[in-house]
Amino acid sequence: MKPVIALVGRPNVGKSTLFNRLTRTRDALVANQPGLTRDRHYGVGRIGSRDYLVIDTGGLEPVAKDGIYAEMAKQSRQAILESDLVLFIVDGRAGITAHDHVIADELRKSKREVILVVNKTEGYTHAVAAADFYELGLGEPETISASHGDGVRQLMDMACERL
Ligand code: GDP
Ligand code: MG
Repeated sequence: MKPVIALVGRPNVGKSTLFNRLTRTRDALVANQPGLTRDRHYGVGRIGSRDYLVIDTGGLEPVAKDGIYAEMAKQSRQAILESDLVLFIVDGRAGITAHDHVIADELRKSKREVILVVNKTEGYTHAVAAADFYELGLGEPETISASHGDGVRQLMDMACERL
């Protein structure tokens, strides 16, 4: 079975942009893999010669109680359960938010492997882009630009080592 990587974070942090970059040259139709539900968005990515499944999620608004945001949060939590590794995406331009802290706590409780990914950092040095995010307590943040591609290769090499 292919390892499963979930893209998790608040809405608008760039999860789908990263998903598209990771799966762009791959077949978007995913072969059946037991334990996966089809109502999330799956694609296939590749690191070196190794394929993995990547799950895009609508966005985790952790305090949503009902309506569309609650449904998206439910989907995100299912994706976390299905995954071997979570890429927790935060927005390097918006900075850290209260909801980022809540999601970080949820991820710690999930006992999944987590890599903290600071997106939208094109034009910033790693040190400046990462500085705010150490306080999430998830270790060294990886800084990327999903839309420009900066840092994505390095991120996925690291993801591969953690799978
Ligand atoms: P999602 O809701 O987490 O899936 O976020 P999207 O992928 O839909 O992106 C939300 C917005 O952020 C869009 O306007 C993207 O173009 C923008 N965005 C995504 N990645 C980057 C990036 O690396 N840099 C910048 N500056 N904007 C980005
Ligand atoms: Mg999206």
